[in-house]
Amino acid sequence: MNLPNTDQKRIVVIGGGFAGISLVKKLKDLEAQIVMIDRHNYHTFQPLLYQVSTSGLEPDSIAYPIRKILKELDNFYFRLAEVEKIDPVRKEVVTSIGVISFDYLIIATGTKTNYFNNETIANNAMPMKTVPQALNIRSLILQNFEKADDTLDELERKALLNFCIVGAGPTGVELAGALAELKQNVFPKDYKHLDIKEMQIYLFEGGPRVLPPMSETASKKATEFLNKLGVHIHLNTIVTNYDGETVSLKNGTSMQSKNFIWSAGVTGAAIAGFDANSLMERLNRYKVNNYNQIDGYDDIFAIGDIAYMETEDFPKGHPQVAQPAIQQGENLAKNLRNLLANKPLKAFKYNDKGTMATVGRNKAVVDLEKLKFGGFLAWFIWMFVHLMALVGFRNRVIVFFNWAYNYINYDKAARLIVRPYTTKD
Ligand SMILES: Cc1cc2nc3c(=O)[nH]c(=O)nc-3n(C[C@H](O)[C@H](O)[C@H](O)COP(=O)(O)OP(=O)(O)OC[C@H]3O[C@@H](n4cnc5c(N)ncnc54)[C@H](O)[C@@H]3O)c2cc1C
Repeated sequence: MNLPNTDQKRIVVIGGGFAGISLVKKLKDLEAQIVMIDRHNYHTFQPLLYQVSTSGLEPDSIAYPIRKILKELDNFYFRLAEVEKIDPVRKEVVTSIGVISFDYLIIATGTKTNYFNNETIANNAMPMKTVPQALNIRSLILQNFEKADDTLDELERKALLNFCIVGAGPTGVELAGALAELKQNVFPKDYKHLDIKEMQIYLFEGGPRVLPPMSETASKKATEFLNKLGVHIHLNTIVTNYDGETVSLKNGTSMQSKNFIWSAGVTGAAIAGFDANSLMERLNRYKVNNYNQIDGYDDIFAIGDIAYMETEDFPKGHPQVAQPAIQQGENLAKNLRNLLANKPLKAFKYNDKGTMATVGRNKAVVDLEKLKFGGFLAWFIWMFVHLMALVGFRNRVIVFFNWAYNYINYDKAARLIVRPYTTKD
């Protein structure tokens, strides 16, 4: 890799997600060479991906160039590459553009979609973890509506207008709500000659309630909202297969659908090279101590979704959401400064600020430590928090303008098939 030789320590960070970015942002003026590697040249604000999938926002309002975010750092180098392997003994990272050595390595690779070893589902389902995948879903939805408007075959039309979402966590719930709003407010005007009642939205969940990571109160409220929007919720229902045409359920029933979106789970995006002791195998997350050092290594760290840290408050590891990732990044930045100054390290302590999810216009749920509520106020808070969390003033302004426009006009304007969906990215 073409990087300047230096006497300074080299810190290599893999991943420009919430964890990697929050870490590097805090390393300004550190006497070290900092190199970030990511397969994308932008940071993705994943919580709003579902709005890209459902034509509410354009992707450039929820993604931001990594080089621009970190432009204040003089000692910073970005490399666009896929990391293939890590050699922790030789202290080298093997990438698609060459090998790089490190003094300190930080793994912040997040998660990838978990298909639970079902190859057929993996080959046919639409995942939603990245901007290209969200754009694929948007194209698929719009292309299928175009086909439905033209076909004379009733069964084919039904399959084109059947939307199946698997997994009723926040992503599945938000996606189902946004699709229901398209059905209510947007598609009837675009497809005047289609019977829009034929569009059906199914939300399948293996567990007994929607929003499993949130409180019972949030779950009940969200169910109420989804019912109002006409989403068919199927709880305790396991989807066993999808071959591109037929959705098969464990209870023996099946249905035809051309829209099958998989939001049923994630697994760590671990990189090859470590021995089994360093990995929590079931979850594919690196086992780390309170300083985010990977088990058995002083100079290799994991932060964010990929890190598995057992603490008294979180005996099964921290939740795989943005806040622990951001906070671990910030704590590790302090610790890297401490390490270079030969000072003791500071243990990580998670400050849980609560969780929230939105179902649609005026409908959201918020879980705080002592207060759980849903409705307009929750929706307003949800919007404010997400707006403020977006990277870059420009993106905040664009998203705010889009939301205001959509709210006033009952519209979702980004209904463009600019990137026709042909095959999965
Ligand atoms: C659809 C969706 C909705 C979500 N909604 C919410 C929400 O509402 N609230 C919330 O708090 N959390 C939400 N989350 C979870 C949240 O986005 C994650 O917890 C957070 O992104 C974790 O940050 P991270 O830095 O660990 O990983 P990520 O943000 O996933 O970043 C990982 C980075 O590593 C890069 N990378 C991975 N492997 C490699 C490799 N081998 N080579 C090169 N680069 C690599 C990736 O390109 C990526 O940029 C959502 C997640 C998804 C997918």
